[in-house]
Amino acid sequence: MSTKIDKKITGYQVVKAEDAKPAPAATAPVEEAKSGAEVIQMHESVERPDTLIGNTYKIKSPLFEHALYVTVNDIVLNEGTAHEQRRPFEIFINSKNMDHFQWIVALTRIMSAVFRKGGDVTFLVEEMKAVFDPRGGYFKAGGVYMPSIVAEIGAALEQHMKMIGLIHDPELSESQKALIAEKRAAYEAQAAGTTAPASSEAAADNAETEASPFPASASMCNKCNTKALVLMDGCQTCLNCGYSKCG
Ligand SMILES: [Zn+2]
Repeated sequence: MSTKIDKKITGYQVVKAEDAKPAPAATAPVEEAKSGAEVIQMHESVERPDTLIGNTYKIKSPLFEHALYVTVNDIVLNEGTAHEQRRPFEIFINSKNMDHFQWIVALTRIMSAVFRKGGDVTFLVEEMKAVFDPRGGYFKAGGVYMPSIVAEIGAALEQHMKMIGLIHDPELSESQKALIAEKRAAYEAQAAGTTAPASSEAAADNAETEASPFPASASMCNKCNTKALVLMDGCQTCLNCGYSKCG
């Protein structure tokens, strides 16, 4: 029996004798597979195309002397159709400092294998961001706390997955945004009132708040890991994510 293939071949698998045998017994799933055959999902036997598109993220951490370069390459499935989907396919990490080379190779190979398995791969971000370095973490520009270098690699992967549309930011509602803006204005007015006599100092404060988008006196928010929590009228309010706790 010959089958005419009128679509682009994006992957193939050689049918072995032992694979072919149970097929008649499992007729229903085969039928199902046929009807859904137009949409290619990520699975282990999707062949790597010769060329992949990707992005490289630079990570500079006080825990590492040299920068790390994290490259995530993506595969585009069902290109040009309504089911077009860009998914990570492989990850590489490079650095001048190769002290941790074997762990980095092990981590990136396992991550790449997870990408190729298909299914939901966004859990990798949460797992990695929850890794804490026993020597302590560090703050990045913008006041975001990084508990470890693994967490920062996870943050780079998260940034990438947001860019390709696998992870969506929980959008703050208009009323939440308005509330944060209102709290922020009130806090800034209060802060300006207390530092008003020393105008040069206030100017210096303003310059500082420009570098970090949140007040210098803000503390860590446990919900979004950002130094954006301010105390107002007995309530702690996060100017980044809107988290609030009173008393
Ligand atoms: Zn927050």
